[in-house]
Amino acid sequence: MKMILLGPPGVGKGTQAQRICDDFGVVQISTGDMLRKGVKEGTPLGKKAEGFMSKGELVPDDVILGLIGETLFADDAPKGYILDGFPRTVPQAEGLKKMFEDNNEKLDYVLLLEAPSDLIVKRLSARRSCKKCNKVYNLVSMPPKTEGKCDVCDGSLYQRVDDKEETIKNRLDIYKNQTEPLVDFYSKTENLVSVDSTGSPEEVHKNILKVLKG
Ligand code: AMP
Repeated sequence: MKMILLGPPGVGKGTQAQRICDDFGVVQISTGDMLRKGVKEGTPLGKKAEGFMSKGELVPDDVILGLIGETLFADDAPKGYILDGFPRTVPQAEGLKKMFEDNNEKLDYVLLLEAPSDLIVKRLSARRSCKKCNKVYNLVSMPPKTEGKCDVCDGSLYQRVDDKEETIKNRLDIYKNQTEPLVDFYSKTENLVSVDSTGSPEEVHKNILKVLKG
């Protein structure tokens, strides 16, 4: 199964991607996670991306397409994958389409997770991530058992620099201008399904399963 999770930052793509991976044995491919790893390790990719990411801006399309091209057909996802946070622009979607055509592959779903922006701002402001294993928490809806510590690996929790209030607005504007046109792009060519993502992570997960299991 090959699918794209589309939707604004903070709508729950990462959280839902992990659950779908557990359900179907597919692999999560998150360009945001790959870039954050590069920044943390100081790789050439990370150095290119860091300035854009800290301001909440998009990393240039050629950098992202290069990164995805190296990852997507590496044959380490026999049951398929979920693209989380990619594509984010029309040129990225066109680049992906070409990669699929060149490899005779086909997308099964584009899931569009939807929630109103006031809820998204609240969710992003309350998001915390583990420094060690990247597990994501929400101080309101999915708090860790011990304050400031990861339930899984005991790593310290931190707030992403791009989850600060002043950057969130910029990211939502960028989503509206650069990523939302993909809804139109995919509704014409792919199996695009909208999923109500206003509820708890469990409720959203159930909504997704209804689509995937029919
Ligand atoms: P995310 O974790 O998906 O919210 O991504 C965090 C940040 O990484 C974004 O705000 C961008 O700066 C960068 N990024 C992640 N994926 C992409 C992409 N597909 N295109 C451009 N920039 C990206």
